[in-house]
Amino acid sequence: MRAARLSGWRQPLDLVDLPDPEPPEGGVVLKVLACGICRSDWHVWTGSDPDVSLPHVPGHEYCGEVVATGPGVRRWRVGDRVIAPFILACGACPACAAGEQTTCANQVLPGFTAQGAFADHVAVAHADANLTALPDAIAPELAAALGCRVTTAWHALTGRAALRPGEWLAVFGGGGVGISALLLARGLGARVVVVDVVQEKLEFARSLGADAVVDARAGDVAAAIREITQGGAHVALEALGVAETARGALNSLRKLGRMVQVGMPAGAHTEMTLPMDVVYSGQLAIYGTRGMPAWRYPDLLSFINAGQVDLSPLVTRRVALSGAADELALFDGPAPPGVAVITDFAN
Ligand SMILES: [Zn+2]
Ligand SMILES: [Zn+2]
Repeated sequence: MRAARLSGWRQPLDLVDLPDPEPPEGGVVLKVLACGICRSDWHVWTGSDPDVSLPHVPGHEYCGEVVATGPGVRRWRVGDRVIAPFILACGACPACAAGEQTTCANQVLPGFTAQGAFADHVAVAHADANLTALPDAIAPELAAALGCRVTTAWHALTGRAALRPGEWLAVFGGGGVGISALLLARGLGARVVVVDVVQEKLEFARSLGADAVVDARAGDVAAAIREITQGGAHVALEALGVAETARGALNSLRKLGRMVQVGMPAGAHTEMTLPMDVVYSGQLAIYGTRGMPAWRYPDLLSFINAGQVDLSPLVTRRVALSGAADELALFDGPAPPGVAVITDFAN
């Protein structure tokens, strides 16, 4: 198996040949068709994700074709094309039985706690409980984003904050998950304002249908959003895991607004000072969210298949395995708009 492996924090990834993975009991091995490069991979790369130890193959946003099945797998056979959520829940514990797979205590996380999909093959545990057939109409590079960013945004908006048509959504951070939220929210009939510090990303958001954009360098972001939305956003989505944007998200809400923390607070941002007086006086709700339970895939795929959302603008860069490290480094600075997906695993 060909893989891009991390041996030192912030170091280039080594292209290495490793033994092919064996399917675990209840699991499968996929030939990886596409793997997105996500901000969470950057946390892995910088050493700020406490779950990861070196050497390590990152990559958690992938789709692929089943090439081997382990004992006990009933729903999948060799040749099936599938989407995998980045959280592989066990399917058997009380949390899974209650439909709360994202909180499963026995979850396996390729790219974090297991070898990931910056490789031409990846082992996927608990296949029956997690995999979804990849519809022919969805290209692999778009389907990869259904492993993390699109599903995370969908669950944040519809499973957690219960965004309704006509409401205003403020998206803090116009990267992959932020743009996914923009596209999905527009499809749901909401109005969207996107906040970023990169002019190119704001223009990109506008070209994808954002009703308004706010340059966070230009002054009081929350005041600007309250003005644009005539009183504040109904829902704010924080996509960076950074204290300043989390404060901005809370301050941009109208009374009874809902804030969803999507970005992972890591490093210096694990603890934040937040305006709890605003939470109190505005009677706000704060939701944490992480991934999406696999049983919600049919609703999302139906939404996509019905033409409610076109995800194709999301992917702006198709790269080779050897290009993954450069893409990770882009998260250090003002990253270019859209997401990068590995589609060439031979180079
Ligand atoms: Zn991700
Ligand atoms: Zn479980």
